[in-house]
Amino acid sequence: MKAEIMGIGTELLMGELTDTNSSWIASRLPALGIELQWVSITGDDLPKLTEAFKRGMERSDIIFTTGGLGPTQDDLTREAIASALEETPVIQQEVVDDLERYFAARGTSMPQHNIKQANLIPSAKWIINKNGTAPGWWTERDGKIIICMPGPPGENRAMWEEQVEPELANLIEDEVTITRNIKTMGMSEGAVDEVISEFFGIENPYLGIYSKADGIHLRVIARAKDGVSALAMIQPVERAIHERLGPYIWGYDDETPEQSVGKSLTERGLTLAVMEMCTGGALTNAITNVPNSISYFKGGIIAHEDTTLSATGVPKAEMERYGVVSQHTANTMADTVRRNLNADLGVAVTGVPGPGEFEGKPLGLAYISVTNGHQTRELEMRLPPRQVTIKRRVPNQALIELRRLIEETS
Ligand code: AMP
Ligand code: MG
Repeated sequence: MKAEIMGIGTELLMGELTDTNSSWIASRLPALGIELQWVSITGDDLPKLTEAFKRGMERSDIIFTTGGLGPTQDDLTREAIASALEETPVIQQEVVDDLERYFAARGTSMPQHNIKQANLIPSAKWIINKNGTAPGWWTERDGKIIICMPGPPGENRAMWEEQVEPELANLIEDEVTITRNIKTMGMSEGAVDEVISEFFGIENPYLGIYSKADGIHLRVIARAKDGVSALAMIQPVERAIHERLGPYIWGYDDETPEQSVGKSLTERGLTLAVMEMCTGGALTNAITNVPNSISYFKGGIIAHEDTTLSATGVPKAEMERYGVVSQHTANTMADTVRRNLNADLGVAVTGVPGPGEFEGKPLGLAYISVTNGHQTRELEMRLPPRQVTIKRRVPNQALIELRRLIEETS
C-alpha cells in the first residue's frame, strides 16, 4: 500500500509550527507495511486543499491528514474532501447531540460554529475523538482511503493508537516491516560505512547510516510476509555489525545514552555522582531524564568557573599547574565528586566555557573522565566551536564512556 501524509494548516507554511504530526505518523507506518511516498504541507485554502486531495486520490492508496478539523472558519479539511469527491456534507444530528453533551459537561453551551464538526459526507464515517471536539474522518471511495485526524498531538496520537492503527492492521495483512536501530559511538561515519560496506545499496533488507548527536546509528529495515521472516532477514546484517563494530555499540532502537547507563547501573546496584564544567547542567539534566534515576544518581556539581571547582574540593594548585581545562583536572573532578558524595562512580567533564578562548585553549576543547576509584577512562574531545553543540555532544559522550567503564569492569 502506497501512502502519503498531509500536514494541514497555514501556520505550518509560515514556519510558526513544526509538522511533528507527519513525522510521528511516518514512524508508525513501516511496522504496518505501509510504504510512505510523499509528505506535504498545505495551508488552510479550499482550492489548494481540494487540489491536494484530488492529486492524492490519483497517486496514493491511502492519505493521512492532520489539522483543519476544528470549528473555526479556517479549518477546511472536511470541505475540501467533499469538494474533491463531489459529495455533499450533511449535518448528523447524533453528533450534534454528542457535541452538545460534551459542552454541557463542561458547564457551557455549544458555540454555533461547532456544528460544522458534525458534517459528514456519504463516503465517510466518524473516528471518535475522546480527547477533543473534532471527530476524525475515515473516508473510502474508489478503493482509496483518506484518514483525517485532528491537529493537536494529544488528540491524534490517541485516535491513532486506539482506532486507526488496529483498523489498518486488519486491512493490511500481506506484509510486515521490522526495523532494528543499532547505535555506535567512537568511529566516524566514513569508517563505519567502510567496515560494513557490502550491506549498503541493497533494497531489502535495507541498511541506512545516520550521524546523530549520540553517535553513528545503523538502521536495518526488512520487509517480509511475516515477522519471523523479516527478523530472519535482519539477523545476518545485525550479526555482521556486531562482529565488526561490537566495542563501539552502546544501544539499540529508541534507547538514549542516559537510559543505557541507567540500565547498566541498576543491574549492578551502582551509584553515580557528577561534576560538570562547560555543559551548564546538561549532563545532570540528561541523567535525571530517566524516571528511576533516583535509585542510582546521587547528584553533583555544576561549575561554571574554577573557583566553584576549588570550593568543592578540586585543589587550586593542581588547576594552576595543569589548567582547569585538562585531562588531569577532569580526573581529579571525577574522583573528588565520587568520594565527596560517597558514590561508586564519578563522571566529570571540563571544557572551555566560551564564548571565546580560555587558558589559551579553543572553544570546543573538552575532557571527560569517568572513574570507579580504581580504573579511569579518559577522553579528549575537539568539537566545533559552538556552545549548543558542546552541550549536546559532551554529555552523550560522557555517558557512553561511563557505560563502557561499567561494562568493562563488572
Ligand atoms: P487544527 O486542527 O488545524 O485546528 O490544529 C489545532 C492545533 O493542533 C494547532 O494549533 C497545533 O497546535 C496543532 N497542530 C496542527 N497541525 C500540527 C502538525 N502538523 N504538527 C504538530 N502540531 C499540529
Ligand atoms: Mg488549523
